Amino acid sequence: MSEIYGGCRCGAVRYTLALKALPSTYACHCRDCQTWSGSAFSQQTFAPEAALSVTGPVVLYELTTPSGRISTQRMCGVCHTRIYNSNSARAGVVVVRAGTLDRSDELNIVAHIWVKRKQPWLALPDGVATWPESAPPAELQQALTGH
Ligand SMILES: [Zn+2]
Ligand SMILES: [Zn+2]
Repeated sequence: MSEIYGGCRCGAVRYTLALKALPSTYACHCRDCQTWSGSAFSQQTFAPEAALSVTGPVVLYELTTPSGRISTQRMCGVCHTRIYNSNSARAGVVVVRAGTLDRSDELNIVAHIWVKRKQPWLALPDGVATWPESAPPAELQQALTGH
């Protein structure tokens, strides 16, 4: 095991992910992710909650999704960078905003969800997995990890 590091814009929140290597990531092009990120898509990855350790002033924002799940978002309490979230539908798993990883310049995006909302100027490379809306969790996991 090596450790993967990340943190917020201001540096008050830092985290480590106990993973063997940088994780593969996916992009979500849904309207909520566009609004929330102020950008064309969000870039995310899954990790076991047990692999994540966080220091600093984390604040929570909880919302109920249209399907009735509770999504708990964690942000830096100083600069409000969104770091990761968990969801009541997936115990023990966290969804990390991959752009907060220190080595974000080395990341690959191997899957795209909600591509029916994708901004039209953005051309996806051949061979990446895409779904028009959200992906079944097992299929997205397969695309990210190969198993
Ligand atoms: Zn911060
Ligand atoms: Zn989204």
